[in-house]
Amino acid sequence: MVFKCNKCSKQWHYDVKKCIFCRGEVVKVDVKKSSVRGMTKITIASPEHKRVPYCDLLLEDENGNFNIRKSFTEYEIGSVIEEKSEESSREAPERTIGVIGSGTMGSGIAQVCAHIGYQVIMCDIDDKILSKGLSRIDKNLSKITKDKEKEEVLGRIKTTTSLSDMADADLVEEASTENIKIKKGIFRELDSVCSKKTIFATNTSSLSIAELAKELSDPGRIIGIHFFNPVPKMKLVEIVKLKDTPDKTLEFAKEIALEMGKTPVVTGDAPGFIVNRLLLPFLNEAVDKLADGSSTAEDIDKAVTLGLNHPMGPLALSDLIGLDVCKAILEVLYDGYKDPKYKPCPKLCEMVELGHLGRKSGQGFYKY
Ligand code: NAD
Repeated sequence: MVFKCNKCSKQWHYDVKKCIFCRGEVVKVDVKKSSVRGMTKITIASPEHKRVPYCDLLLEDENGNFNIRKSFTEYEIGSVIEEKSEESSREAPERTIGVIGSGTMGSGIAQVCAHIGYQVIMCDIDDKILSKGLSRIDKNLSKITKDKEKEEVLGRIKTTTSLSDMADADLVEEASTENIKIKKGIFRELDSVCSKKTIFATNTSSLSIAELAKELSDPGRIIGIHFFNPVPKMKLVEIVKLKDTPDKTLEFAKEIALEMGKTPVVTGDAPGFIVNRLLLPFLNEAVDKLADGSSTAEDIDKAVTLGLNHPMGPLALSDLIGLDVCKAILEVLYDGYKDPKYKPCPKLCEMVELGHLGRKSGQGFYKY
């Protein structure tokens, strides 16, 4: 995989956020073979203060483009390096995955599943919402694939408004609206339409999975597979097991996460799991800080990115997650732990009431 500047066409073998030369947007491109045209050999200091040999390779790809790769291996000038793209080097077994919900998370999950070769059935309440989800996937894929590969990936995604189409899925990942009534209704119906081999998973950020399990004839078939936003980029998956989750279900969930190129961590069914329990009070505090009027949203975000080395400020992150989603998660944490530190602050409630939900509504702490 090579990273190429859209503006000046410079290329790198490592991920750069913006072009180092012209600050243009950088996209991923698939490259099959490259020839070594030059090499600079130096040594760098290891943490143990040993000198480690290290090379900067100047590569020419099959399209005649030059790019730079950092390498610990030395190559002869003229040697040809066969490339394997990150996605094609992963070999996913044949599986059919049902994804419920085609919103922010559902479309991301469907995209990654289809990209690694799973057949995907994506379900939502109407066709208009589904086609929005599909165009989001199309747009995301355009940045990381060529047209032919994109068409293949999109060809593996079927859409439906009927849960009965999930009957033969190996796994159904539920990523519908964060509402216990909606999710219970979905699992009740899935239980009656799906085959006995189907494993059920939920992407809920904060609801009790034990509560959802009550809708199933076999509660051992449900587990939390909690992805992070944006799904194609975020490497972590929290696997949430219940007290009596069988090892078979747990191992299957871990396997799916690994096949999707994610790193699974296991946790119990308690509000907020690991990440949201730590994150949401922090986001809430940032909104409350904004409300005191002494700092702008930009300054709060800048303080956190530069002072704490976070890749994104808490207000920009809240906009990305969705302010309604943030508020709903805080309410569940507050209910679950009965601790006022989790209570959504007045400013957050006010923003949600005004319909300023962040990126998805075009207005949050920033305008989109
Ligand atoms: P979203 O609002 O973007 O999408 C939810 C989708 O579910 C909508 O398209 C909606 O039409 C659909 N839906 C509602 N009822 C349905 C039904 N009965 N059948 C099928 N589809 C239905 O929400 P989202 O941000 O994608 O969140 C989805 C889930 O993922 C939630 O449980 C949320 O807590 C969790 N989650 C969200 C984030 C995030 O950053 N947004 C991160 C991790 C987990």
